[in-house]
Amino acid sequence: MNICIVGTGYVGLVSGVCFSEVGHNVTCVDQDDKKIAQLIAGRSPIYEPGIEELLVRNQNNERLRFTTNLEGAMEKADIVIIAVGTPAESDGSANLSFIESVAREIGHHLTSYKLVVTKSTVPVGTGQKIKSWIQEQCGKMAFDVASNPEFLREGSAIYDTMHMERAVLGVESEKAKELLIELHQPFDTRLVITDLATAEMSKYAANAFLATKISFINEVANVCEQLDADVTKVAEVMGLDPRIGSAFLGAGIGYGGSCFPKDTQAFIQMGQSAGYALKIVPEVEKVNFEQRKRLVMKAKQAFGLEGLRGKRIAVLGLAFKPNTDDMRAAPARDIIPMLTSLGADVRAYDPIAMQAAISYLPHITFASSWQEATRDADAVIILTDWNEFKELNLQELKNQLASPIVIDGRNLFEPQLMKSHGFYYDSVGRIKIE
Ligand code: NAD
Repeated sequence: MNICIVGTGYVGLVSGVCFSEVGHNVTCVDQDDKKIAQLIAGRSPIYEPGIEELLVRNQNNERLRFTTNLEGAMEKADIVIIAVGTPAESDGSANLSFIESVAREIGHHLTSYKLVVTKSTVPVGTGQKIKSWIQEQCGKMAFDVASNPEFLREGSAIYDTMHMERAVLGVESEKAKELLIELHQPFDTRLVITDLATAEMSKYAANAFLATKISFINEVANVCEQLDADVTKVAEVMGLDPRIGSAFLGAGIGYGGSCFPKDTQAFIQMGQSAGYALKIVPEVEKVNFEQRKRLVMKAKQAFGLEGLRGKRIAVLGLAFKPNTDDMRAAPARDIIPMLTSLGADVRAYDPIAMQAAISYLPHITFASSWQEATRDADAVIILTDWNEFKELNLQELKNQLASPIVIDGRNLFEPQLMKSHGFYYDSVGRIKIE
């Protein structure tokens, strides 16, 4: 099939690369000419394991192209996929201005039937709006609109797309359904065929549920701390129940990233404007933010009355999760300013996300290795569970530090092991070792 994808961010680029890998002819469009030039040169503007290999291979076999020219890219396309951003407005609702502008542009260039598919996460009713935006530009020209929300996870996005466990096809016509089935034919996946509104809602419901799981286990962790129980074992027990499942039960400093924070907010707004005030999801958000503050409290407690003023704190990990350079709504962006406002002098290191972090965290020092970050530090705070940190040589770490204090927001180490190395070790929902 001939596919045109508008937006070459995490979703558009990964989809483009994977659709070409399974045999479709894909043209990716972006308005950012620097991004397009980089992609034409075979370099990915985002960090995502495995992406460049697929990018170069499919460019070489001429199944994958990049351009800033939407009109040309649409010409031969059977399907035009919208994958532009839907950031949060100040009231939490989804900003649809990028979607509207792309929809109008598509309408303007429509010269033959196209199926226009939304992969971006959009509130219920957006498909209908897209239809009217296109129609206003193209008059009587035939087209269909469909919703195909994306469920990939940054950090394993290529794997998730190549092995998608389900695809939601929100359609309004038989033709749209057939085209979307053909698009997904090369994937061994379960297709859920539904209407537009249900498809749009399914994405918000799924993300809000996952966010709820994270805040739930974080609350369990907070009670565990009061009662000397171990949340990692509690989560293991819970996860062995297939009705619960083990994913998203890692207690820590809460969720971040480009999706959960904005999608929970947009879901709340969507409920409100539809006349139903959600009760669980707003609490999920509150718990999530409190969890950041609790980690800072733990760091403060470690120094007792001295507090954090003038303390040199090494922060390990900036990205909101490992294997990505995405800093959008990363916990580090909340936690580091809290530390500096208490007078701490922060030196941070992340294996991949440092470049992306610089503009968000202008008042701290960046180190080029974990050793440089921790040298003579008064404490280490771990914010991202990169493998590099899980594999730290603990003796070397201790030798680096001015005082052996580790505050672990990701539960990377066994408290007893840390004790045997002589650390003051505080983590989330487990026994504190002093
Ligand atoms: P992104 O910000 O990384 O990428 C969006 C791209 O669209 C940018 O490259 C931008 O230049 C381009 N763009 C904007 N307006 C354009 C226009 N008029 N013409 C051409 N290109 C234009 O966004 P993302 O993370 O890929 O997310 C896209 C959508 O997918 C969002 O709605 C998001 O909620 C959803 N989503 C994201 C993820 C994720 O993990 N990032 C997962 C599932 C769903």
